[in-house]
Amino acid sequence: MRLANPMRRRGLAIGIDIGGTKVAAGLIDASGRVLAEARRSTPGHDPREVEAVIVELVRELSAEHHVWSVGIGAAGWMDLAGSTVLFSPHLAWRNEPLRENLERLLRRRVFLVNDADGAAWAEWRYGAGAGESRMVCITLGTGIGGAMVMDGRLERGRFGVAGEFGHQVIMPGGQRCECGNRGCWEQYASGNALGREARELAAANSPVAQELLRAVGGRIGDVTGAVVTRLALEGDPASVELLEEAGEWLGLGLANLAAALDPGMFVIGGGLGAAGDLLLEPARRSFARNLTGRGFRPAASIRPAALGPAAGMIGAADLSRIAARR
Ligand SMILES: [Zn+2]
Repeated sequence: MRLANPMRRRGLAIGIDIGGTKVAAGLIDASGRVLAEARRSTPGHDPREVEAVIVELVRELSAEHHVWSVGIGAAGWMDLAGSTVLFSPHLAWRNEPLRENLERLLRRRVFLVNDADGAAWAEWRYGAGAGESRMVCITLGTGIGGAMVMDGRLERGRFGVAGEFGHQVIMPGGQRCECGNRGCWEQYASGNALGREARELAAANSPVAQELLRAVGGRIGDVTGAVVTRLALEGDPASVELLEEAGEWLGLGLANLAAALDPGMFVIGGGLGAAGDLLLEPARRSFARNLTGRGFRPAASIRPAALGPAAGMIGAADLSRIAARR
């Protein structure tokens, strides 16, 4: 007979983060620690295949532990109840009753959460936003994810689809965005935007882009935001400048958000967040310069996220635990 510690038994949940290329799963305890991890490639677009991968990961991580609930985080829109995926950009889910399907397969409580909401919740519970009553979390990756924790709860809007900050138009007539509009914030301040700007610089055959070209063996198409971030951290002046530019756009967008939402703190995460102060210092300056009523109001702080790429799964797990208790 196995005697499990009842505290641990109650606390364990699995968080699953479904990305465009990877499905990452973590066994998370009640204090937000990742006790074990497993991952698979994201299968094709068939929703049944994605469900099968989720089932496999949950079986693997729960083989030796009693798991209370499972939280699923993915890009896209989930309904307010955490039951139905309304739309997901990477996957073929359209009005998919994923929770019902998975609860039948897993025989556990399941909760669906938008990936940016999951990351924000984790940062507020266990990370950079702990103790802040009004926090806005920005995830800089291929695009810009946004989420808010206000007075101890996720603010998700009337229909559950709030936080699409990446598509605020910041440059009318600017870069085309996949949402169909032009000049969206995420076309200027995301990891993808940084990569695009760097490729443009490299393609112009500018002498300042030598390091960038060397880093990718002359293959301009291989220049990404991650490459620029790494070179900037190593001190390449052109990459530092590219990050500064992205940081200025970031600060401008944050000033717009502060005018609307008045948070106490912005937490900046995602792949581009790894650039740290090389990105955040220019963002803070631009934020201070563009803030409505500057000089006459307290201003939000801008801080780096603390939990790294695991934030999404940690938040999804915790939210599933809370939902299961209801
Ligand atoms: Zn857009």
